[in-house]
Amino acid sequence: MTSTERIEHTTDDSHRLENLCMEKGMRMTDQRRVIARVLSTADDHPDVEEVYRRASKVDDRISIATVYRTVRLFEEAGILERHDFRDGRSRYEQVTEEHHDHLINLQTGEVIEFHNEEIEKLQEIVARELGFKLVDHRLELYGVPLKKPEN
Ligand SMILES: [Zn+2]
Repeated sequence: MTSTERIEHTTDDSHRLENLCMEKGMRMTDQRRVIARVLSTADDHPDVEEVYRRASKVDDRISIATVYRTVRLFEEAGILERHDFRDGRSRYEQVTEEHHDHLINLQTGEVIEFHNEEIEKLQEIVARELGFKLVDHRLELYGVPLKKPEN
């Protein structure tokens, strides 16, 4: 029995991060809004440089230092998640309501999101057997495609 579900990033609410910032009482400058929107509409896991590239297309006064600061601010507020997919770059995605894990294609760097109910349950069992209540986890799988791409 398998229950792995591939998850597609949802990008239907481009104001999601911005609204979360306001709920948290964060002061929102125009530049922060632009960066928040870039992150809310990302359907991948961009690093700071990529966020900077996208944000500066909207507002060319945004500096990479501002992007670094803003991303850190969002991360500290718990609305942005940082990942390290072992390529030496920190990648970001907004915190979603539904949990998902990641599989990284080592040949292309593509990041696939998935959810597997059995893995979720198993992790709870492991924690319980060790005397813990599971409150969070992070799982990254690294793989190469079984089939060679056809040309
Ligand atoms: Zn993800």
